[in-house]
Amino acid sequence: MKIVLVAACALIDADGRVLIAQRPEGKQLAGLWEFPGGKFEPGERPEETLIRELKEELGIAVKEPCLAPLTFASHAYETFHLLMPLWVCRRWEGIVVAREHQALKWVRPRALRDFPMPPADEPLIPALIDLLGG
Ligand code: C5P
Repeated sequence: MKIVLVAACALIDADGRVLIAQRPEGKQLAGLWEFPGGKFEPGERPEETLIRELKEELGIAVKEPCLAPLTFASHAYETFHLLMPLWVCRRWEGIVVAREHQALKWVRPRALRDFPMPPADEPLIPALIDLLGG
């Protein structure tokens, strides 16, 4: 089965809330809330992928030392297998704006379960609760 590699990030604000982004209409899994990120391009290091995607999707500039790896998702979708490492990031430049998503939300770690997420993203929640508390 085809393997799709996606780099994802939990941005964390000063109150310990996590950013989730609602997938746009017309795309697979439209309306679900995900951790922002995107597909690796050939030759990219994972952190380069993430920095590029965070700029494209949210308009923010992240410096590589501000990215800390936390955990990863591995999920078999019907037509491909997704491997998705998750980083956390507490420092960036700029203000987050939804350039490619329908909406953005800052959410307490325990409240993440109240938002419907893609099946790959949901199992990442406990690691964020462990890291940040409720
Ligand atoms: O965002 P994009 O559509 O390029 O991502 C490719 C696929 O990876 C999506 O169709 C979705 O199935 C999966 N994905 C996911 N969770 C994310 C990002 C992508 O399950 N946070």
